Amino acid sequence: MQNLPSTVDLHTHSTASDGELTPSQLVAAAVAAGVSVLAVTDHDCTAGLAEAQTACSEVGLTLIPGVEVSSCWSNMDIHVVGLGINVDDARFQARLQQQMERRSARAHLVAQRLEKLGYPGMFEAAAHAAPQGIPARPHFADALVRAGACGDRKQAFQRYLAQSKPAYVKTEWPELVEAVRWIREAGGVAVVAHPGRYKLTRSKLERLVKAFAEAGGQALEVSVATHGPDMVKQLADLAEKYGLYASQGSDYHGPSMRWVQLGRMPALPGQCRPVLDLLGWKAEQAMR
Ligand code: AMP
Ligand code: MN
Ligand code: MN
Ligand code: MN
Repeated sequence: MQNLPSTVDLHTHSTASDGELTPSQLVAAAVAAGVSVLAVTDHDCTAGLAEAQTACSEVGLTLIPGVEVSSCWSNMDIHVVGLGINVDDARFQARLQQQMERRSARAHLVAQRLEKLGYPGMFEAAAHAAPQGIPARPHFADALVRAGACGDRKQAFQRYLAQSKPAYVKTEWPELVEAVRWIREAGGVAVVAHPGRYKLTRSKLERLVKAFAEAGGQALEVSVATHGPDMVKQLADLAEKYGLYASQGSDYHGPSMRWVQLGRMPALPGQCRPVLDLLGWKAEQAMR
């Protein structure tokens, strides 16, 4: 499906997690791409939002404060985007801190695996470029590339870091229902991130959507840069069936992934209710 330019991009990453651009650089890139409503949705972390808000205010962009929470459903990692969250919510921040502790414990185990595979010192090598000194898998991938173990991030995942590869370590993320509850209790709208990327059968994808809706989830990312036309249609139908809104996002991580661009994704089918309708007042609030 053709990825068309849109002025709304509700899924992006900065250096506050595993993105390549600082929040200010991300905002500048969004402006250059013609985006006027931007959600910054770093993994389990909101540390980039203050800088993003300052940069957005300077150039007249609307920032939707966001996050992408790692969760678990049916023994799989499922990502839940929170849009319009209250960043100052202390309980939410404590919950994100727990997520970072899980990440830290996992990162040490990943480094141990890599050492056994012949790559010592990978924790330090990955941590120096990582926010809070806690490397995510892409930071390990970059460190492996620098160590000459592979040519790029993608290869590092294929050889070492992806599920079932030798340096993969499973993380005990909170259940999907918990992630939804955390986001809603922080005033946010909960959105299933990139539902087409979990490689689910049609029936299992429907079970995920049903479980998510029953947990109080409010939207699906129907339009994602990597979703083909069949997936977009399937998700639009599921959103309609389960009374969910539709979101759209690039899941941009930076310029090196040339096939993903800010504000570029398939058009939302006409049957969808855009999640911005639900976020209207929050977008206004984010402007102030
Ligand atoms: P983590 O949150 O530490 O488990 O790392 C997951 C992140 O790694 C995702 O958000 C993507 O940015 C990146 N990622 C996952 N799979 C791949 C892959 N096959 N190739 C490149 N990047 C990937
Ligand atoms: Mn990522
Ligand atoms: Mn994700
Ligand atoms: Mn993402």
